[in-house]
Amino acid sequence: MSEQEKRVVGDNDVVSLEYTLTVDGEVVDSSEGHGPIEFIQGRGNIIPGLEKEVYGMSVGESKAVSVAPAEGYGEEDPNAFVEIPKSEFPPEIPVEVGTPLQLRDHQGQVFDAVIAEVRDDTALLNFNHPLAGKTLNFQIKVVGIREATPEELDHGHVHH
Ligand code: ZN
Repeated sequence: MSEQEKRVVGDNDVVSLEYTLTVDGEVVDSSEGHGPIEFIQGRGNIIPGLEKEVYGMSVGESKAVSVAPAEGYGEEDPNAFVEIPKSEFPPEIPVEVGTPLQLRDHQGQVFDAVIAEVRDDTALLNFNHPLAGKTLNFQIKVVGIREATPEELDHGHVHH
């Protein structure tokens, strides 16, 4: 081996990362099924708590990273719960805890929610990100590092 310095992740590198995300002891997401994620380091393409841990890693290196809610998907917002009369639900939607919903506002913007609670005549919808308020436990492994192309840097995302 030469004295060549080991390539480590820095700003504007395209990083390929294998990961497993465990929340409350359950695996909620993993690159196993769909391959590693690719992102431009330093551009906020991934959550801040994970991005800062990837700096300085080399290909083949792995580690465990624990990300607090504030550096992940944020704290749960108590104002993001909305109570809706059961009569307003379309008949094909089961009014049960855990049912995911998509709601459209007057401007046509779509919001994701989940039924958090079912009461006598109403249901409580939770508009928070499903991982808000959660500590995210990642197992990560860097499987590739390359320089981003000028076009990728211009766009702020990876091209394939
Ligand atoms: Zn592009």
